[in-house]
Amino acid sequence: TSNRFKNFPMVPRVVFGKGCFDQLGEILLPKRKSSDAPIIYLIDQVFENSSLPGRVPVLFNDKIIFISADEEPKTQQVDSLVQFIKDEFEELPSGIVGIGGGTLLDLAKAVSIMLNNNGSAHNYQGWDLVGKPAIYHAGIPTISGTGAEVSRTTVLLGPHKKLGINSDFTTFDQVLLDPDLTKGVPTDQWFYTGMDCFIHCIESLSGSYLNAFSQSYGEKALEMCKEVFLGELNPEESREKLMMASWHGGMSIAYSQVGIAHAMSYGLSYVLGTKHGIGNCLVFQHLGAYYPEGVELFMKMKRRHNIELPKNICSVLSEEEMNTMISVSLGMEPLWENALGPSWRDQISRESLKEIYLKI
Ligand code: NAD
Ligand code: ZN
Repeated sequence: TSNRFKNFPMVPRVVFGKGCFDQLGEILLPKRKSSDAPIIYLIDQVFENSSLPGRVPVLFNDKIIFISADEEPKTQQVDSLVQFIKDEFEELPSGIVGIGGGTLLDLAKAVSIMLNNNGSAHNYQGWDLVGKPAIYHAGIPTISGTGAEVSRTTVLLGPHKKLGINSDFTTFDQVLLDPDLTKGVPTDQWFYTGMDCFIHCIESLSGSYLNAFSQSYGEKALEMCKEVFLGELNPEESREKLMMASWHGGMSIAYSQVGIAHAMSYGLSYVLGTKHGIGNCLVFQHLGAYYPEGVELFMKMKRRHNIELPKNICSVLSEEEMNTMISVSLGMEPLWENALGPSWRDQISRESLKEIYLKI
């Protein structure tokens, strides 16, 4: 068929380096359409009282909107942000800039798409449903691991499902990678989001979809994860390497797929609201039967950084909730196929998933 080979978009511009955040004004200047078409900055609320907002190149009627990353982004949240921006300004913005982790990056992607496309964001959850290009959008990660800075998806919780808006228009027009922005990340969160990258590598490299393209990025990302989480890097090197590992991990799964930890973590997130990074860790620790070397390395990293994961989080679930969780997880068919091959249905049962969930 004509779509046997993915023809996927990459971020066309990227700037990297300690302190490069201060170049943002210069980068955005040529993107400004007029003094009435603002740049909207969506910034993680965690920075509200820090020095960062003062360094944002606010001009004319630009606006900073602080958003909490306590919960993962929702389609309804995207819709109300878009409505707010349309009500507040006469012209469409010149651009949307997301500053934060995967949550803020995904919100920036979704808002920039929905400013140019009608209806609710939930209508576009799926593959290639977006008709018109997004407005200019730039992503600035402040925590490393998700690969959201390179991916062609924005993962949203909608009324019916948690699913990405996967489209050629989702990918950022510009990414700014300044490792110094990740300085204040708490150790636990650093580990959870960093392990998202590590798990991307393991799931991509051991999957049936693996190919030389994915492998080249996956192996590099894995090597950098090992240096960051088990090596002897100084903090500055560690921040730089994890930022680049995230990038490579994202590139690796762009041409392959993730696997069991992601499929099961989606179930956790849907039913319990568990966030992506910690959810992946909670599942992955029990996947030794599927990813023996990866899980062994994971346990080593976890011990090295004294990370304690919560326990018994599924014991409170009703039978019905457990069933929903299993169904959501098994619904991620490409992930299972990547992990276990075309006959994956013969190798995994609802019962075996339940067993794993009950260990968490
Ligand atoms: P996040 O954005 O949810 O942030 C996690 C926590 O870290 C928050 O409390 C946030 O305030 C805090 N934080 C971020 N930067 C900080 C800093 N510099 N200093 C102090 N605290 C900081 O975390 P995440 O793990 O990067 O993102 C998870 C989200 O990413 C999920 O919604 C998930 O669905 C999404 N995701 C998207 C993709 C994609 O390709 N689009 C891939 C993976 C995950
Ligand atoms: Zn992930």
